[in-house]
Amino acid sequence: MSKEAFANNVALRVIDKCSGLRVRKYHRLYRAALNWRRQRIEAYQLERMRALLRHAYDNVPFYHARFVRSRLTPDSFNSFKDLRRLPLLTRTDLRDSLDDLLAEDFRAFGASQHTSSGTTGIPITYYKDTNARSADIAATYFMWNLSGCSVGEKRFHVWGTPDSAAQWHRLGSRLKRKLLNAKYFPAGSLDDDRSYQSAVRMINSYKPELIDGYTSSIYTIAKYALDRNIKMHRPKKVLTTAENLYTYQREIIEGVLGPVRDVYGCGEINGVAVECLEKNYHIIEPRVYVEYEDSISGNSTKRIVLTDLENYAMPFIRYEVGDMFDGIDHTQQCKCGLESPYFREIVGRTSELIKLPNGMVISPVTVFGGAAFRKVHNFNKHQTIWNGKYLIFVFEVTDSFTQEDKSELESIIRALLRRYSVGYRLRITEKIESRSSKFQYFKNDYDAN
Ligand SMILES: [Zn+2]
Repeated sequence: MSKEAFANNVALRVIDKCSGLRVRKYHRLYRAALNWRRQRIEAYQLERMRALLRHAYDNVPFYHARFVRSRLTPDSFNSFKDLRRLPLLTRTDLRDSLDDLLAEDFRAFGASQHTSSGTTGIPITYYKDTNARSADIAATYFMWNLSGCSVGEKRFHVWGTPDSAAQWHRLGSRLKRKLLNAKYFPAGSLDDDRSYQSAVRMINSYKPELIDGYTSSIYTIAKYALDRNIKMHRPKKVLTTAENLYTYQREIIEGVLGPVRDVYGCGEINGVAVECLEKNYHIIEPRVYVEYEDSISGNSTKRIVLTDLENYAMPFIRYEVGDMFDGIDHTQQCKCGLESPYFREIVGRTSELIKLPNGMVISPVTVFGGAAFRKVHNFNKHQTIWNGKYLIFVFEVTDSFTQEDKSELESIIRALLRRYSVGYRLRITEKIESRSSKFQYFKNDYDAN
């Protein structure tokens, strides 16, 4: 038996046994579906969708009311086109109608409670049942497989706050890490020299095959090593997630650590899409049904709409998660050989758009992210803040930062802003404070309402 087959058969069986999950079942489904024809995938998804709609109508007060208001019944849905008659589910709905969004018998599905830190500014609580949690984990493992890594290979995982790291001492968590050959590092503790040294030492002594976690945390570890000329162990793959991956971040991570594959998902629905060799994001189809709605910024970007086909405790049907994508309208199959649909780029979050008083809209990720400041080297990270009147560009700089670097930044910013007629301030600092474990590259300090 190959190492990968062993891992998939034995490790997943043990995980299921210990946790009461069904990871192995879903993992097998996703692997099998790689060889399904389009027609079969669509038939499978339609059948799952109709079953979910029937359940939501019968057991979930929020959806029952929605169906009635829209004059629909589960029998109204015969194709995916019919689905569009049902309004979108928003984060505001989640915040305001949590009780009604739970199935009447939600505890029978093994529901567990989760919260989201609220990067969109709307913190939410939600529930996931046994099948949804199993599908989340299986999709994650499946994405490792697609990236050339196996379950059970040495893995270095950068995640969570110091608080969540406290849970890692539990016996169940320790056993799982042992079984899966994983070491965890708390992303939220990366804030001084000592913590970076410790991350670098752990990677170099453990020599993982896979490093995964928050994009900005992995980037700052790589940048730390680069600035100090520390030679790093190179894993087979680096999987970044949960934040936008800028071009300059990718270049530094790939230079210092190894090839990057970006993963897209959200806390509510994990494992939605993964980047292939061609840098396209392929949808993990049996996991999730994906639709796109036009974006409010009026260009080719679209808002992603997700339906989790597994979560019966708290159905997410036509969920507008708040992220925007580009490069969706294409008909050709991806050159990598995968047949599943894909998008080319994660553009940012809808809440990250800046609406200027003159009516223009700026997408900060698109305009100030990517390679905008690549010519200037002596900074660790930067943040853009909109206060309703002008933009504030904050740069956390290194000791080598010079007056010339500052002038260079000024001229780049002026060029970027020329067409928008909006003012700005440039702030140079030794440290950008962050209250959450994930770095916030854009902050909207202005409440337009
Ligand atoms: Zn591809």
